[in-house]
Parts: sequence; structure tokens; C-alpha cells
Amino acid sequence: MPGGSCPDCGSSELVEDSHYSQNQLVCSDCGCVVTEGVLTTTFSDEGNLREVTYSRSTGEHEQVSRSQQRGLCRVKDLCRVLKLPPTFEDTAIAYYQKAYRLSGIRAARLQKKEVLVGCCVLITCRQHNWPLTMGAICTLLYADLDVFSGTYMQIVKLLGLDVPSLCLADLVKTYCSSFRLFHASPSVPAKYIEDQEKMLSRTLQLVELANEAWLVTGRHPLPVVTAATFLAWQSLRPSDRLTCSLARFCKLANVDLPYPAVSRLQELLGILLQMAKQLAWLQVLKLDKRSVVKHIGDLLKHRHMLLRMAFRDGTAELETQEKTPEQGRGEEVGLDSFSLPKGKRPASPSLLLPPCMLKSPKQAQPTPPVSTVTGDEDISDSEIEQYLRTPQEVRDFEKARAAISVPSPS
Ligand SMILES: [Zn+2]
Repeated sequence: MPGGSCPDCGSSELVEDSHYSQNQLVCSDCGCVVTEGVLTTTFSDEGNLREVTYSRSTGEHEQVSRSQQRGLCRVKDLCRVLKLPPTFEDTAIAYYQKAYRLSGIRAARLQKKEVLVGCCVLITCRQHNWPLTMGAICTLLYADLDVFSGTYMQIVKLLGLDVPSLCLADLVKTYCSSFRLFHASPSVPAKYIEDQEKMLSRTLQLVELANEAWLVTGRHPLPVVTAATFLAWQSLRPSDRLTCSLARFCKLANVDLPYPAVSRLQELLGILLQMAKQLAWLQVLKLDKRSVVKHIGDLLKHRHMLLRMAFRDGTAELETQEKTPEQGRGEEVGLDSFSLPKGKRPASPSLLLPPCMLKSPKQAQPTPPVSTVTGDEDISDSEIEQYLRTPQEVRDFEKARAAISVPSPS
């Protein structure tokens, strides 16, 4: 039937699509499956060697539209490609069917239906704490991240789903094990080879630290993990690995270097330095971002206590603010009161806050001027007239427009 047209929408954009070993003709405009394999049912069909579509031959899926059938197959395929546990497939399929009951989705473009396949699988994975990233799904579906996230947000809202955020610990486990640093290979020097378990547990601790220190919230989780993995790796054998940069490390380990990882690394080192100041025997060493690396193992052992000591806890400060309401709004109290030396702990440093709040731009959020205009005030003629062109202005404007426009060939 090549060269024919789609019985559903009349489009002639029919493409061959092989699903496993069965070749199908599919309409690329509406997703209608025009022929599916060679199935014959009746003698007359066989005699005439006519192809009968699957849906016509069994009637099994008469209620299910062809593009939905196709989508459901894609959901199954995607689950299998990702090697997900068998129960996930049913959940994802249920979501796809549920989404298909919405008219807005049924009438959506084929591209969106394809993206929907990924959304249903991703939602299922998130609900089971399976560490699948949106980036991974987009790569598999050849989908644009913006198109994907748009559909994702829409479907989560439409179906009223509760989707937990990515489980960091699981992401660390899967992502970390993809680094090629655990077996000897010609491209990786022996001193760079690391034990997988050691690396995993230290990376987990560093990610946990980053999370407690507000470096994870609102950020893409992967670059945090990349930076933590690098630091864990360096600190496990600092003498040989301090010279290796983050970029070189990623290249050796054969993973992409997400650009925010550089910032996450600096932020994480900053936190570690603050923590190191709390230990007397490290304080005397006057550590910097480079020399602190070989003490990471020690710092992580007492990370909870050191973090509490190094930073003033935000919630404790809030309580003291509430006791003195005459001090006014929080943002004014914020840093000023802490810059004053407070007898007991003179070295007591900054608040533990997300980096975006510590940047302190010169003008923080200009407050809109207070207006008490009611909208019922008089409008004078002279006020309106200033928006109208004078006769002279009209003539000048016409002249200017005539000068710009292309002269007619006459
Ligand atoms: Zn069609």
C-alpha cells in the first residue's frame, strides 16, 4: 500500500515502521497504523492475498484507538529497554490509558503522544524511587527537554499526581557506578583506580553534606553528584590525585561534565573549609581549597557536628527574632545583627543559607512604591491631549513614512 493515503486523516505521509520483526505502515501525521503485518483470516482473503489489519481480524481492541495502541506498545518497549521491574510496566500503562481519556491528550500531536510515553514511565519510576533522570528519557525518545517538561508538568497536573522528587541516594548509586574507574584499563593509570564501595560510600556522605548545606535544593542533582564523586575520589588518595582536574577526571571516567558541577565543587569546598576551621588541629594548618581535600575523610566523620558548629542554624536565629518583634522585618535584621561581635563566640560565622541568598546583590528585590490611587480620579483633557498627534506631527509622520516605503515603479 505504499503511495496510498491514510484512511483516518487522508494524509499521504505513510512511513514504514518496523516493530520487532513486523513491518507496519504508519501515518506520520496522526499515528494511524495503516497495515500491520500480514494476517489473513478467511479463505477468501487468502485467495485474494489481501492483508487484514490486526484490529479488524480479532476485534480485540476495537474500543482502543490505534494511536493509543501504539503508545501502549511504546510504554512497554521503553520499560523493557530500561530494564525496569515488571510491576512498573503496568503502572505506566495505567497512567497512559488514564491520560488518553482526556480529550486534550487524545487530540494532541503525535510528538506529544510520544513524549507522553516517557512521562508515564518517568512518573512511575519517581514513585518507586527508581533513579531515572528526565535527561535519560529525553535521550531515548529524541525529545526536546522543554517539550518534555511541558508535557510532564501538564500531565502531572491533569491527573492530579503526587510525584516525589528524585531520590538522591539511588541516583548516586546508579550514576556513580557508571564511572569507569573501578577496573584497570589502558586509559586509566593504576593510581587512579578506586574501590567502588569506598567511592560510593564517600560520595554518598558528600552528597548528604551538600544537601544539608543547601547546595542541592533547587539545583539539578546530577552536577552535585559529579562534584561529590570527584571530591570523594580525590580524597581517597590525595597525594596522587590532587593534580587531576575535574574535567580530566570526567574524561578518564568517561562521563559527561555538566557545567554547573564546577560551581558545585567550589561551593562544596567552601563548606568543607568552614568546617575545617572548627577543628583546632586543622585550623592551625591554614587550609585552602586545595589542601583541604586530604582532610575530607576526617571532616566527613564528624560532618553533622562540624556543620552545626561552623554555621549558625537558621531556625535558631528565627526564634530569637520572634522574641524581639520591635526589630522589624527579617531581611533588615538578617546580617546586621550577626556582624556585631557576640561575646562568647567571636569567630561565629555566617548563617547556613543557600548560596543564592548569600550573594547579596546591591539591591535586593526593589519593593514597588505604595500607591493609594482608587481609579475614580478625574482625568483632565490636557492629560489626554498629550497622547494625540498635532496636525504638524501627523504631516511629518506621513512624510517620513512615504520616504521609507519603496517608491512604486510608475
Ligand atoms: Zn493519518
